[in-house]
Amino acid sequence: MSEKIQVAVLGATGVVGQRFVRRLAEHPWFQIAHLAASGRSAGKRYSEACEWRLDGEPYAGLGHCVLEDADPALAIAPVVFSALDTEVARELEPAYARAGALVFSNAAAFRMEEDVPLLVPEVNPEHLALLAGQRARRGWSGGILTNPNCTTTVLVLALAPLHAAFGVEAVLMTSMQAASGAGYPGVSSLDLMGNVIPFIKGEESKVEIETAKLLGRFRDGRVEDALLAVSALCHRVPVLDGHTEAVSVRLKGNPSPEQVREVLDAWRPEPQRLGLPSAPPVPIRLHEAENRPQVRRDVEQDAGMSIHVGRIRRCPVLGVKFSLLGHNTERGAAGGSVLNAELALSQGWV
Ligand code: NAP
Repeated sequence: MSEKIQVAVLGATGVVGQRFVRRLAEHPWFQIAHLAASGRSAGKRYSEACEWRLDGEPYAGLGHCVLEDADPALAIAPVVFSALDTEVARELEPAYARAGALVFSNAAAFRMEEDVPLLVPEVNPEHLALLAGQRARRGWSGGILTNPNCTTTVLVLALAPLHAAFGVEAVLMTSMQAASGAGYPGVSSLDLMGNVIPFIKGEESKVEIETAKLLGRFRDGRVEDALLAVSALCHRVPVLDGHTEAVSVRLKGNPSPEQVREVLDAWRPEPQRLGLPSAPPVPIRLHEAENRPQVRRDVEQDAGMSIHVGRIRRCPVLGVKFSLLGHNTERGAAGGSVLNAELALSQGWV
């Protein structure tokens, strides 16, 4: 790529926004042109407006940059990465799309709209084509493209190759989700330390409906949801980054754990074939040790972009069960969005 594409980051001060900034500061295709946040932060230097909470160079070397208001009349670029809260996203993201930007959103506001791609590049790259109808119907020159809820992203990356090989009929998923999934400051440490909280608002239904859309088939300009039953039980646990999921699945033909392992191991979808810059070498890291994957040992591998599967075994209820792990703020948020943008760019949508 001879010239880098200018991008804006909305919500640059937040948990996901900081990860966007760290990823994009060194990106081979994209260059940060605008950092934006709320009116509380606009006008301040990045280093004054928020505390940098990531490893590596503070503020990714951009601490001197002045934050702008998240306003398409001021901070706009051909590609916009949005780490806005859902309510704010509902108002601002369409304004950006109308103004010509392709918005890569982490928020839930538009994920389930019929003409909005809900995308994980390894899982459903063909759903990108929904953008054509979205632009025609809404009269936008830009568009909105979303990534799923972080828990769904991790789950669907494990289910997609199984759905293609056998067909997924039913899924039971129990999550143990990191504190960073709730943004900053998130759940109070006094509530979470030494504790497990069996409630995350809206999370279970998001996993259940988003999975069906992601595994759905793109036909005649629309997505037909996959016909499968998903039951999610979501818990917040005192872990910093990384969602662990205990998954039981019923697959057509009742394949053995060995067959399931072979399919997961052999999976080389589109981003890996294209060699997109943020794609991990393999999307799924398989673990043989009986006590892996573990958050502290595994979740940062491949810059948090691969998911981890271990303990694949027989499930007496649904057929097969396994342990699953993925990075909620990288693969499940900023890294997933950047990979979406790389796919969109490689397919000529930017
Ligand atoms: P967060 O840490 O609370 O950050 C929110 C960001 O939005 C901040 O930069 C904040 O700026 C900005 N903001 C708030 N009100 C605004 C307004 N009126 N106008 C413009 N900017 C405004 O939240 P987060 O965890 O990064 O989550 C961001 C989005 O990603 C949410 O929709 C969340 O559901 C989604 N998501 C999060 C995760 C995760 O694991 N954390 C995973 C997947 C998706 P100020 O600092 O100026 O207030």
